[in-house]
Amino acid sequence: MTDRTRPLATRGDSFGTPAAARVPLGDSQSAASQPETLGASTALVQVQGLSVSYGAIAALRGVSLTAAAGEAVAILGANGAGKTTLLRALSGQLAAKSGTVTLEGQPILGLRPAKIVQAGIAHVPEGRQIFGRLSVRDNLRLGAFLPSKGKLLAEDEERIYSLFPRLSERAEQIAGTMSGGEQQMLAIGRALLSRPKVLLLDEPSMGLAPIIVDQIFETLTRISREDQLTLVIVEQNARAALDLAERGYLLESGEITAEGNSATLSDSAIRAAYLGSTDPP
Ligand code: ATP
Repeated sequence: MTDRTRPLATRGDSFGTPAAARVPLGDSQSAASQPETLGASTALVQVQGLSVSYGAIAALRGVSLTAAAGEAVAILGANGAGKTTLLRALSGQLAAKSGTVTLEGQPILGLRPAKIVQAGIAHVPEGRQIFGRLSVRDNLRLGAFLPSKGKLLAEDEERIYSLFPRLSERAEQIAGTMSGGEQQMLAIGRALLSRPKVLLLDEPSMGLAPIIVDQIFETLTRISREDQLTLVIVEQNARAALDLAERGYLLESGEITAEGNSATLSDSAIRAAYLGSTDPP
């Protein structure tokens, strides 16, 4: 399933995939006519009935969701709702109790994390988890796909530096000495170097100033549009995530309790997911 010729990006001055070619779920004009859940035929990623437990603690119970190619999907929920567990299960870091996960129709649940990266799913973990004592460049190279040494790797690195010019300026800097925003850019850049089809992002806004969050989310939007990259973004910052995403799912105590187009996902449903409000969604 691994496509070793898969480009990281459309390169050159004009970026390839027009925005209009993107799955238009975020278009409020068409929102009413869009299905709330994608059918299996259009889903790049399909999760069905996923359950994960930590011993006796059921962290995810029968979670089902889909994401199309080039779509950005937000997973929202309060502390402890199961968001991180979901991403860790999708990237193979946690074993599932039951359920299925497919990428382009191929089952991936139970594969080792490295195989899942090769299949096309990259994970930007909560807290970034960069190598603090290594330089920016070395951190990036650790995430690289390393096709056959040389040209492709260099081109991919250049693409990351063009997306995040700050990383280019700081290529030789020790990563642990960079700001939180710069470290988040590095974590995203490193994940992109595995040439994913799907990028899982765990709380990318955490601890960052709003202006930095805006910059990073704008870049994520650009990458998703230009490369048809699917984003699955876990966030406590619901508004920022829904600005970025076309659709959202609300996770409460390990279960999906609401889903919908970002424009139509109701504020009361979001409030309920975060605060346990008794307002009807
Ligand atoms: P946060 O926003 O605080 O990161 P979250 O929505 O990502 O929360 P998870 O970290 O996925 O939630 O946790 C879901 C549930 O699983 C919580 O009840 C949590 O206490 C529990 N949990 C998470 N990790 C473990 C673990 N290693 N051992 C036992 N229970 C765990």
